[in-house]
Amino acid sequence: MKINVVKGTRDLGPKETARFQEIIDKLDSISYFYCFTEVTLPIIEHAQLYKRSVGETSDIVRKEMYAFEDKGKRLLVLRPEFTASIVRTFVNNKIHALIDLPFKVHYHGPIFRYERPQAGRYRQFYQYGVESIGVNSPLIDAEVITYGYAALSFIGIENVILKINTLGDDDSRNKYREIISEYFQKHIHKMCHDCNERLQTNPLRILDCKIPSDQEIIKKAPKIHDYLSLASRERFNEVTKLLDQSDIPFEIDQTLVRGLDYYSEIVFEYHYYSDEGKTLGALGAGGHYSHLVKELGGPDLPGVGLSFGVDRLVEVLKEIEEDDNEEDYNSFVLFYLIPVGDVKIEDVYDVLMELRKQGGYSYDMYHEKKPLKTLIQKAKKRDARFLIFIGEDELKNNTLTIKNMKTEEQMVVNRQDAKQVIRSLFFSSMREG
Ligand code: AMP
Repeated sequence: MKINVVKGTRDLGPKETARFQEIIDKLDSISYFYCFTEVTLPIIEHAQLYKRSVGETSDIVRKEMYAFEDKGKRLLVLRPEFTASIVRTFVNNKIHALIDLPFKVHYHGPIFRYERPQAGRYRQFYQYGVESIGVNSPLIDAEVITYGYAALSFIGIENVILKINTLGDDDSRNKYREIISEYFQKHIHKMCHDCNERLQTNPLRILDCKIPSDQEIIKKAPKIHDYLSLASRERFNEVTKLLDQSDIPFEIDQTLVRGLDYYSEIVFEYHYYSDEGKTLGALGAGGHYSHLVKELGGPDLPGVGLSFGVDRLVEVLKEIEEDDNEEDYNSFVLFYLIPVGDVKIEDVYDVLMELRKQGGYSYDMYHEKKPLKTLIQKAKKRDARFLIFIGEDELKNNTLTIKNMKTEEQMVVNRQDAKQVIRSLFFSSMREG
């Protein structure tokens, strides 16, 4: 019986996996330059963690969590985001008492959200992100935003549109929430079902609605910037000034509110549009959080962070590099061992193990007896660069016959010299290309 992959999840072949790894490696090096250190956290967490942080009224908690009860009757979820886990580890390990703040970390791993799958939107996807907890400064907000911009450029994604906004402090946001609730109340009968729900649960999220007829109403809604406290306005101006000084282009988008309740003050998203104007949605997003650490039982410290969707970064890079999308399920091999004549396959296997012990390069063989011609075909299919023939003469004389598949040159090598010869063959093959 054939069993399909779970809806919204996908298998990554070797080529796609290598693309993910390449992006993670590049992000790791930017994280290193910015002094973020790596942590690895569990994929399952208590459901309560997200109710308290992301918020009971958020789409994530209301509709998108993979929640289940374990055998010990704990209500657990497959993590739907990272920030709450990072803050949880900060609080659980009393990190504020252990280190000189800020706590600066990077992380990566799978995330699970029960969303409607579409291009660039999966139910299991991969995030890479950073958080800086413990110091309250617009400079850190600007630094994290700059990290994201620099990272995208290092990966090879230029022409990124950075959208930023501020949600203000508590007073500004509470006042604004009242004002737009009143405004939308007058128009809600013309708006979509989700907006009607959001008016009851979280009116700010109406600003996020992408439905064109609702957009007309949203465009005319009162703007958050008209209700900011002096402190929030100054903070926002300071961050934008710092971005200007670092030559980071940005657009102020007053409808940007983000779907996670813990954000306050600055929020931002990175967008990429293809030449035809297509977009997969945000490549990454983040913001400042004033109360999350306290909310999760820690001291009253703020934080700021961002997360990239690695699946989307891969998609965009494939488009930029015009990659053919074709997978290659062959495993890579440089030296392919082939038994010749009547030698026992076990003797060739011994040589394979001896060469692997020497380390350095990849060696393989076919583990069943087959005619020489078939084995050479198999080596060619694997794109092996060198064949190592082992016949009776080679076993008797303790030698290897090595053939370079590109130049067709063949040589006989003493087994005790194999390590050095193979090394020089490898380097000459690099030069040959
Ligand atoms: P968020 O945690 O919602 O702020 O999302 C951060 C980033 O994760 C987004 O900017 C996307 O790049 C990515 N992302 C969010 N949801 C999905 C999804 N369902 N599938 C793929 N990537 C996603």
